[in-house]
Amino acid sequence: MINLDIKSLYESELKELLVGMGEKPFKGKQIYEWLHKKTVGSYEEMTNLSLKLREQLKQEQPLTRLEPVDVQTSRIDGTQKYLFRLSDGNVIESVWMKYKHGNSVCISSQVGCRMGCRFCASTIGGLTRNLLPSEMLDQVYRIQELTGERVSNVVVMGTGEPMDNYDNLLRFIRILSDGNGQNISQRNLTVSTCGIVPRIRQLAEEGLTITLALSLHAPTDEKRSELMPIANKYSLSEVIPACAYYFEKTGRRLTFEYSLVGGKNDSEEDAAQLAKLVEGLNCHVNLIPVNPIKERDFVQSEKKVIENFKNKLEKYRINVTIRREMGRDIDGACGQLRKKYIDTRENLS
Ligand code: SAH
Repeated sequence: MINLDIKSLYESELKELLVGMGEKPFKGKQIYEWLHKKTVGSYEEMTNLSLKLREQLKQEQPLTRLEPVDVQTSRIDGTQKYLFRLSDGNVIESVWMKYKHGNSVCISSQVGCRMGCRFCASTIGGLTRNLLPSEMLDQVYRIQELTGERVSNVVVMGTGEPMDNYDNLLRFIRILSDGNGQNISQRNLTVSTCGIVPRIRQLAEEGLTITLALSLHAPTDEKRSELMPIANKYSLSEVIPACAYYFEKTGRRLTFEYSLVGGKNDSEEDAAQLAKLVEGLNCHVNLIPVNPIKERDFVQSEKKVIENFKNKLEKYRINVTIRREMGRDIDGACGQLRKKYIDTRENLS
């Protein structure tokens, strides 16, 4: 028996659950649509179910929902950052961004993170727990409800390492893109990973059409391991072929994320090495000026250095863009709003 909450179940499993309760399978379909298409927050709203069944479900299958505890809106670009409370009291953050081509949501995949990347605020308190598929879905559902606007793109780039919560991530992807749910195209879904090689290879086999983004951040193992402890476990000679395999299997162009840290990984030599590393791959490099966090002394590269880095990559004919910084005025970087909330709560108690 699957030990998951009702909002984390596939439609087929929900049907089985209802059959087990002595109901017809189509009741399962109806409930699935209430949960994932209409995204209601309570059994009371499921008006095509009998009162008795609603009552029984309420007793046997508690329905949880994320509660917004804080929302910050950027005055610069309208980006909104949501802090949600989970049913066990933990908090997570999600970001809503408005682009010309549609609305995008950046979701968290874990409460905290155990990957330990040096520049990242999400990892400072370590990993608390994995998010359930329902808790990942609800970030999208609640933001659509709160903004009154449809979300067309989802990136799993918030707090957490999605590949460290693989099974739940997969459910999330399949339910989010399901025609009987929100029907968000897998092509508009991106999963970002620090580079857990066996999971990248596994993901390549799942028959999905999502975009894989790899957090590269340095062109050599030596430099990479100074920023990302995972580099001690999987070398670039394993990570890059795993990405190439992902492309081979899915035909999806790869994204490499490269956060530029002043004086660490932003030299012309770094750019040349990076170009060599990704040469021949169907890919796109996304340069992200590092967002300094107060716990670490990393600084952003100067504007001129960033431009030079980009130009150098272009000389090698690499597709490259500098990521627009969204919501700089609202603790935009991963984990900063959550961290501030936790720190304040701890200081009060
Ligand atoms: N664990 C996943 C996804 C979450 S982080 C991963 O590592 O990809 C999403 C992206 O933001 C990653 O590329 C991460 O390295 C980057 N990031 C985290 N903190 C940052 C900061 N302070 N400045 C710039 N980029 C940061």
